[in-house]
Amino acid sequence: MYFGYPVIDIHTHLRNDIAKHTRIAKASGIDALVYMANCHPPLDNLERIKQSLEAERYCQAMPVSAITKNLEGKELVDIDEVKSLVVGFSDDGQYLEDLSLLQEILKKQVLVMAHCSPSYERGIENPDLETEFIKRYLNVLEKTGGKLHIQHVSKKESVDLIRNAKKHGINITCETCPHYFTYTYKDLDTKVNPPLALEQDVLAIKEGLSDGTIDVIASDYAPEPRKTGIAGFRSFIPLSYGLVSEGVLSEGQLKEKLHTNPKKIIESGGYKLD
Ligand SMILES: [Zn+2]
Repeated sequence: MYFGYPVIDIHTHLRNDIAKHTRIAKASGIDALVYMANCHPPLDNLERIKQSLEAERYCQAMPVSAITKNLEGKELVDIDEVKSLVVGFSDDGQYLEDLSLLQEILKKQVLVMAHCSPSYERGIENPDLETEFIKRYLNVLEKTGGKLHIQHVSKKESVDLIRNAKKHGINITCETCPHYFTYTYKDLDTKVNPPLALEQDVLAIKEGLSDGTIDVIASDYAPEPRKTGIAGFRSFIPLSYGLVSEGVLSEGQLKEKLHTNPKKIIESGGYKLD
């Protein structure tokens, strides 16, 4: 253990090589991780999930199931059949447009990890869409209740929106990634989804981490093959610890972002960590 407590990364992509990528995670100081459903073929049924659980691994690696079959946003997976084997449900990589499906899955009281951003290209053209999508989901959550976790928050307006929702007693959690509190689009010429933003966004993400609006730091580790993303396990702890060096977070707050809150969120869906 790097810090004396298990570091938990709740947003990763392991593609079809769980052994290789968990080995890199472990060597980077990550003790447990949650991996998204967009492998090939995706984790959208019991058989695929069971198969994935049998793969060799070097740290605790917990799957999520897709929300919809083949991540197509059309038909829900068999939630009751797979829920005991997974941390939660996510169509990460794709924004689920059909709010009636979101409503249906939230009613099941399983953990829903939501990708609230458009495609990379659309996100570059219209940076406000992330906040707009989160707003839509918040409206559903307010009516339906349930367990909603927003993935990779990157914009100032999104942080403001979630802060306000929490102030009004809405039960929601969210994460950001090291690249969103470290780099603007001018610093790093790379494609990530959501895209890197402006100085004001970087500052707002730090503020959101510091005041508790943002619960978790996750890597969104994305090795090849990919269209967008960074394979950032190795920079995960150094960049996160940078927030302590900078005085943005205390050591205790860093533990909340890397251990306590991820654990709570994982266990909120009924999953028991080792
Ligand atoms: Zn992702």
